Amino acid sequence: MSLPFCDPKGCVAAGCDVVVCRGAGVASNEELFARSAAVIPGGVNSSIRAFKAVGGTPYVVSRAQGASLWDVEGKHYLDLVQSYGAIIAGHAHPRVVEALTKAATDGTSYGAPTPREMKLAEEIRSRVPSCERVRLMNSGSEATTTAVRLARGATGRDRIVKFAGCFHGAVDALLAAGGSGVATLGLPGTAGVPAAAVSETLVAPFNVVPTLDDSVAAVIVEPLPGNMGLVEPSAGFLAGLRAECDRVGALLIFDEVISGFRVSRGGYQSVCGVVPDITCFGKVIGGGLPIGAIGGRRDVMENLSPLGTVFHAGTLAGNPLATAAGLAALSLLDDGAYEFLAQQARRLGEGLRQAFAAAGVPVVVPVVGTLVGLHLATTPATNFDEAKTTDEAMFGRFFHGMLNEGVALAPGAYEVLFPGLAHTDAVIDQIIDAAGRAALRAARSA
Ligand SMILES: *Cc1c(COP(=O)(O)O)cnc(C)c1O
Repeated sequence: MSLPFCDPKGCVAAGCDVVVCRGAGVASNEELFARSAAVIPGGVNSSIRAFKAVGGTPYVVSRAQGASLWDVEGKHYLDLVQSYGAIIAGHAHPRVVEALTKAATDGTSYGAPTPREMKLAEEIRSRVPSCERVRLMNSGSEATTTAVRLARGATGRDRIVKFAGCFHGAVDALLAAGGSGVATLGLPGTAGVPAAAVSETLVAPFNVVPTLDDSVAAVIVEPLPGNMGLVEPSAGFLAGLRAECDRVGALLIFDEVISGFRVSRGGYQSVCGVVPDITCFGKVIGGGLPIGAIGGRRDVMENLSPLGTVFHAGTLAGNPLATAAGLAALSLLDDGAYEFLAQQARRLGEGLRQAFAAAGVPVVVPVVGTLVGLHLATTPATNFDEAKTTDEAMFGRFFHGMLNEGVALAPGAYEVLFPGLAHTDAVIDQIIDAAGRAALRAARSA
């Protein structure tokens, strides 16, 4: 599409085939973001994208390919955001693009069952044995919402236990984050969530097994938290949760929206060996398109409508494009792919450690499977309070230094890094070189 005031040549030169050019020149990130902000609150459709945590104006993306991203000004970045983990094969992977193109020509949504949704559900079950039945939906938030409703319906109980620092999407009942030390009654973590919506939500500190009672429908946990930086569960924590849930008849929900199909073929549950009753998925399983899913024990899952009494529905659920892209992405994720990803994560982790050490900046770089965290402090974090000791100001300077060097990190100190199949040795080494310079500059301007 070219707008009347768009100079197509300028657009093409900048790799911008969609939006907005001005006169003979190319619109800047500043101009486009200001124009967005005049129609979209804060200029973004997902809050963290606004750079509030790090300051400055977001780059406005025109296109991406593999590990590369270009903004509307034509500036190139090596991308470690990868859509916050929705992309694992690299942007616009030919296999995914081909699957999408083929699917689009068959029509994009029908409101009836399709073979592709069946195949994706089968693929999830074959990789994650705890998922005897799978229901597809449109986002990770919908998955956690549905998992909680299902657990409440299946147990006839209302109470939910979550952990401080674990993020489960934009879900009223799960946005409570306050309370540490001991499990406390949840308080709303955001305006607009009535106290009643979280009155049955208890928040406990991560890595401590809470004592439950028979009012608890479910415990929901990121088994490998990736939203307070990357925090590893301590030995026995997840097994302890399993045992405590079993003791009182509560269900255990693993939110593997990040870790599912990313840290290993079978998600983090195949790494830790603890079997949940319900698992939430999103991100990777859509190959970069909107998707979510829950999977779980057959007797639990069959409480979902139309078999059972727990309602779930979605106009676009099991969407032909999302399932086609997801199947294509999963087809690239064999054992060799996970080995490669883990190797690249270790290479990136080691490089970042050295970059900060050379700059004299304290850092802990946890690497778990294929995920990399960045904790700017002297000791590893084991829970949310410890995660919050990261040097946010230092991160902000490092973030902008990296952006300046042409490396895109997620604009927040608590996000993880997502090396993918497109992050070759050469790409990782370029990122590490940039990190060396950015860490030095961040340390000097402290
Ligand atoms: C991203 C995320 C979600 C929410 O998924 P959306 O698709 O953004 O709704 C839920 N849980 C975890 C652990 C996530 O990282």
